[in-house]
Amino acid sequence: MELSLTPAQEARRDAARAFAEQVLSLRAAEFEREERVPQEIYSELAERGLMAVNLPEELGGSDAGVVAYALSMMEIARGCASTAVTMAVTNMVGEVIARFGTEAQRARYCPLLAAGRHGAFALSEVDAGSDPGAMRTRARRDGDDWILDGTKQWISHGDSSAVLVVWARTGEDGPKGLSCFLVPEDAEGLVVDKHEDKMGLRGSHTCALAFSDLRLPADALLGEQGAGFPIAMMALDGGRIGIASQALGIAQAAHDFALAYLKQCPERAAEQDAQFLLADMRTRLAAGRLLVLRAALLKERHQPFSREASMAKLYATEGAFRVTQMALSLVGAEAESARMPLERHMRDVRVTRIYEGTSEVQRIVIARHVLSA
Ligand SMILES: Cc1cc2nc3c(=O)[nH]c(=O)nc-3n(C[C@H](O)[C@H](O)[C@H](O)COP(=O)(O)OP(=O)(O)OC[C@H]3O[C@@H](n4cnc5c(N)ncnc54)[C@H](O)[C@@H]3O)c2cc1C
Repeated sequence: MELSLTPAQEARRDAARAFAEQVLSLRAAEFEREERVPQEIYSELAERGLMAVNLPEELGGSDAGVVAYALSMMEIARGCASTAVTMAVTNMVGEVIARFGTEAQRARYCPLLAAGRHGAFALSEVDAGSDPGAMRTRARRDGDDWILDGTKQWISHGDSSAVLVVWARTGEDGPKGLSCFLVPEDAEGLVVDKHEDKMGLRGSHTCALAFSDLRLPADALLGEQGAGFPIAMMALDGGRIGIASQALGIAQAAHDFALAYLKQCPERAAEQDAQFLLADMRTRLAAGRLLVLRAALLKERHQPFSREASMAKLYATEGAFRVTQMALSLVGAEAESARMPLERHMRDVRVTRIYEGTSEVQRIVIARHVLSA
């Protein structure tokens, strides 16, 4: 497998890095304090082609591929994890609509997302997180229309999205009875709750949603009726590359801070435990990055990548959590201070082990692939 980057991939990564260094890392603490990332930030990401990295140009995307997407995500998350999660989910939603949508659905929504409006991915419910087959939200037919009733939980930027991809039960119990719908932000019957008071990603809003007799036209169905579960699984396979990249970006920021600290503190840098921590951090970051780029390259080449995406997410997110902890150990008591970015990185990185499939779910996916090969 080739590991060298093309000039176009390097250029995309460098553009994301410059924006992260010049804007995001300077404002991430402010976004957290204000509990919001201003829309202008997403417009600026869109101008750099980062809200639809892997969408074709005719839909407003930059058609830069999955490797460029992963590299850009690492850089943006290094600057601000809250900004990165919205970039990740919006890119994923754009890809789902581009892949499964009709021409009219693609034309209506993809250019909006590419221009910086958000797209939400509404799968999880209170009792249906790791197991979407337990979902209770229902969609029933009324003439040609669909009527949605139910609730969703933990939906990233559910309160600022132009379009929400919503899963609902249209048939039998279990995963086979699920379908997928495109719900515009102004749909009557869509109620968005206040955003959660979270440990990390505090600049990103995470909301509960309720659908009460929400009427949708027949053409709101995304893909075939009953195909909701495979659509969700395919979307999450790709999404996992994004979240693995996000985790590595956060951990890289923690590593960079600890390294700068060591360079200013020669006594600490001379200690063997500090050197071992630094060596372990660098090794885990490098290994995570290789796994992510392998999965990204397979997806870009339209080869099977589900197992590799789960391996990348499992290793990168668990490793990123550990690297961030090690950065705190290197710096010592001062790292706990709310004035230091390290405590934010520690809170931000935790959720990467949970959303888009917990580490246990990744292990289940990997083991199934291995046993069925
Ligand atoms: C900040 C944030 C943002 C989110 N954004 C979104 C979003 O935009 N869209 C969306 O749809 N969802 C979103 N989620 C939800 C997220 O995807 C779920 O929280 C996640 O899938 C886990 O589901 P759960 O919380 O219901 O935990 P559960 O599924 O109840 O799992 C609880 C624990 O049990 C373990 N477990 C579950 N099943 C098994 C099993 N079979 N074997 C072994 N262990 C198991 C899990 O690994 C976990 O440790 C978000 C969550 C957070 C915290």
